[in-house]
Amino acid sequence: MILSVASGKGGTGKTLVSTSLALALRERSEVQLLDCDVEEPNAHILLRPTITEKQPVLIPVPSVDESKCTHCGKCAEVCAYNALAVLQHRVLVFAELCHGCGACSYLCPEDAIAEEGREVGVVELGEAAGMEFVGGRLNVGEALAPPVIRKVKEHIKPDKTVIVDVSPGTSCPVVEAVREADFCLLVTEPTPFGLNDLALAADMIKELGIPRGVVLNRAGQGDSETEAYCRQEGIPILLRIPLDREIARLYSRGTSLVEGMPEWRVAFLGLMDDVEQLAKRVAKR
Ligand code: SF4
Ligand code: SF4
Repeated sequence: MILSVASGKGGTGKTLVSTSLALALRERSEVQLLDCDVEEPNAHILLRPTITEKQPVLIPVPSVDESKCTHCGKCAEVCAYNALAVLQHRVLVFAELCHGCGACSYLCPEDAIAEEGREVGVVELGEAAGMEFVGGRLNVGEALAPPVIRKVKEHIKPDKTVIVDVSPGTSCPVVEAVREADFCLLVTEPTPFGLNDLALAADMIKELGIPRGVVLNRAGQGDSETEAYCRQEGIPILLRIPLDREIARLYSRGTSLVEGMPEWRVAFLGLMDDVEQLAKRVAKR
């Protein structure tokens, strides 16, 4: 089972949910927690993993052999990201713009382009509270999150229960992280912004053909619009976490809900039971 935990909007408590779920589940199955929120990873704050290995994430960028180059301009023409400029006697490579697609080296008629690795991030492997931890981190100033996310996901062990913490929003990194999930939990809060971004994320997950459910965080006031939306879209609300001073205090101190308030363990185990049943029901169709 691969379960993605996403949210349309940042700051809804997505990581509180993913880490609490992982901590609750480790008692009954082998769990892997993947932090794919590589632009702002914070699962490590709540889980405090021991990191045993770091792997750099490299993307291939072109290196031009000027002695072979005829400055024909084909490489710059084919580059969709404007990462190359061909001058009269020189080819300029803007490595930060390069997406490592390889089109320029493939199409160069003179075989003048080699590829060299450029580090854009790192994958950290380790152990946290009896479970496997894999976290991605994009280097400061880099914009290309998907290659780091793909590297994190290479470590997925399908025989384990895999919880994937996804970036907020609906952009490419989210699609990359959510792809191949058996189920996606959308964490939201009952505010107009929360509802707006939930609707965007829910549509995206539907397009990807992944079954969805909602976790309503800071519930208690103004829930009715979110509830009405979920009813109308046929999205079940699987867990409600109340707006509570003690929960907020724990979170601000970097303590997960299950660790700080162990009575929540049962609720998270129940959440996973519901997720498994819903995922099975969809798979049978
Ligand atoms: S396609 Fe090859 S030969 Fe043409 S400008 Fe680019 S590097 Fe030079
Ligand atoms: S590898 Fe792709 S993105 Fe990078 S410079 Fe070549 S064509 Fe452009």
